[in-house]
Amino acid sequence: MDIKQLTAEHPAVARIAAAEETVWINPGLQPFDSVRPTLPVSAADVADASARLRRFAPLIRTLFPETGDGIIESALTEIPRMKALLAEAYGADLGGGRLFLKRDSDLPVAGSVKARGGIYEVLKHSEELALESGLLSGCDDDYVKLASPRARAFFARYRVQVGSTGNLGVSIGIMSAALGYRAVVHMSADAKQWKKDYLRAHGVTVVEYAGDYGRAVEQGRAESDADPMSYFVDDENSVDLFLGYAVAAERLEKQLADNCVTVDEAHPLFVYVPCGVGGAPGGIAYGLKERYGDNVHVFFVEPTQAPCMLLGLATGLHNGICVQDVGLTGLTHADGLAVGRPSGFVGRVMEHLLSGEMTLADCKLYDYLRRLWESEGIFIEPSSCAAFQGVLDAARSAEMAAYIADHHLPMENATHVAWATGGRLVPPEQREIFLRTHLAP
Ligand SMILES: *Cc1c(COP(=O)(O)O)cnc(C)c1O
Repeated sequence: MDIKQLTAEHPAVARIAAAEETVWINPGLQPFDSVRPTLPVSAADVADASARLRRFAPLIRTLFPETGDGIIESALTEIPRMKALLAEAYGADLGGGRLFLKRDSDLPVAGSVKARGGIYEVLKHSEELALESGLLSGCDDDYVKLASPRARAFFARYRVQVGSTGNLGVSIGIMSAALGYRAVVHMSADAKQWKKDYLRAHGVTVVEYAGDYGRAVEQGRAESDADPMSYFVDDENSVDLFLGYAVAAERLEKQLADNCVTVDEAHPLFVYVPCGVGGAPGGIAYGLKERYGDNVHVFFVEPTQAPCMLLGLATGLHNGICVQDVGLTGLTHADGLAVGRPSGFVGRVMEHLLSGEMTLADCKLYDYLRRLWESEGIFIEPSSCAAFQGVLDAARSAEMAAYIADHHLPMENATHVAWATGGRLVPPEQREIFLRTHLAP
């Protein structure tokens, strides 16, 4: 990759390659109505995913009673003390706008946003196997049957495998093991030890790799492809994962309404989502655009050393470029975001939907983690904390001021949602360490 030439064509690359914090406004953003017909996914696909999750709810309730009604969902919490603190400590004043935290950090079963896409994909695969084999007679059958010893013995003949930086492995591993599959998670070097321990304690086989996430995926895929009884969850290209994430939008819509939040031309919605390979934030962004169109403004946030989606979007090369190509390490304390190459599928869907991206230095993750804990008593993991860089930049960057002016957005009526993507499963000792971690800027 010739960085000089890339930078000449795409000026944003200079800052990205220098690992400087960046606010990037997407020049490709277009009115959603003009983009919709060009997309490879549709509102009907998301509705289908949502209906499938409802069919599985009785089974989920049986396997995971903590889900209550069997619908895996998280709370939306207004965080006014954090809003005040951001204004006071960082000069990031949201004015009359309201600030919410979407707490996927507390999602049941997997404790991260991966409980949406990952679990959905395992369920969809299981439904296909069960319908084919006659375990289920049809989509109106009683899905609780899938928790029976007979069904478990059936699923035990199959393997489910995935490559993961941690949280995807937890979500796929826990759900697969709960159904009786032999689950294998291929983990990258930066995956946290406690996540590996947690999976092993739940009967999941964990294979560790010295290299990065890309390597773990490659090896996992090769091993799975060699076994006809094995199914590989492909985080880089999976449409099912994406649709599972997209269902978040209909749930958020209801929660916003419950909080008396209107979203329309006079009341813009801003959403900030930490981004790794792109599946989770991409699915969420797409789902929200289907619901709110041009009145929702979605921003992804990535670490300065692993801004793979930003690099792919800014150059238009998508998965044809990786962060190492421009001299970055791909290494970050945000283990859920430690991805060097973005999903090409997601990048192409985001091209004209995404409002922009922000990047942040790792030291900020821990600052935001402490601020949220001190102001609201809410703990989320470092990767999740990236969302707050989006909030800060929205309030105080020149790039965002220009975006807001261009789109004539009445910010006093705005609602901001920071998407907290993980945290519940972090062990108490590890939490203490995170709360005390200070990195040099
Ligand atoms: C996976 C993950 C993300 C990002 O999801 P991608 O699909 O990889 O983009 C964000 N935060 C946390 C905590 C995650 O585990």
